[in-house]
Amino acid sequence: MTIRYSRILLKLSGEALAGAQGFGIEPEALARITACVRVAVETGAQVGIVIGGGNIHRGAQTGIFTDRVRSDHMGMLATLMNALALSEEMGRQGLESRIMSALEVPRVVETFVRARALKHLDHNRVVLFAGGTGCPYFTTDTTAALRALEIGADVLIKATKVDGVYDRDPVRYPEAVFFAELDYDEVLSRNLKVMDASAIALCRDNGLEIRVMNINVPEKLRGLLMGEDIGSRVWAGGG
Ligand code: UDP
Repeated sequence: MTIRYSRILLKLSGEALAGAQGFGIEPEALARITACVRVAVETGAQVGIVIGGGNIHRGAQTGIFTDRVRSDHMGMLATLMNALALSEEMGRQGLESRIMSALEVPRVVETFVRARALKHLDHNRVVLFAGGTGCPYFTTDTTAALRALEIGADVLIKATKVDGVYDRDPVRYPEAVFFAELDYDEVLSRNLKVMDASAIALCRDNGLEIRVMNINVPEKLRGLLMGEDIGSRVWAGGG
């Protein structure tokens, strides 16, 4: 059986690493996420990951910074800390990975260079794209769209705690309506919580498919990569 997506970009929020404690990095959450990544690698897909930093630094809400740019610098560094933790756990679970940062920290990790990232992917190393875009005023959602396009990913998988996109929070509202398919403009006009608007627009303008799904269930991720319809699909034909 051939796989549906041979190269994927997985967007993980920092929150995914926080687990039940809701802040920082929980070893169990790290192990769970890594097990999912291993499932993806085992299907034969090449895997890039963009990790957020909200579990360590939540932008303006910290009350530390009056300067947005400095706050964003801390946010980008938080993503690097998450990438280090994730890469460590990957090694523990037998996965080869490389961290590439948009912020230059050459004594710690490689700097992001597209050609090198492609080489790592071709060697079946999981590439963790850290440091966001390297620029303030952006998010790691936008980073995920950007890196997915740069590496020519077949799909951007946005990991969420629920099964996909709903018209409202399905945890609080059990009657929430699930969307199996959407087009980009519908996501934007209905202000659905998929990713921020600049990330959606980047995907739309370049025809990059987005899948929103719960990746805590490894079988679902395997199913998606092997051709099953899992989660919500955002694409040009989804209207
Ligand atoms: N950030 C940034 N530029 C980027 C990506 C991220 O300045 O290109 C900063 C920003 O302060 C953001 C923080 O890093 O709040 C963490 O990223 P994000 O909020 O996207 O993480 P997530 O919510 O996915 O955990």
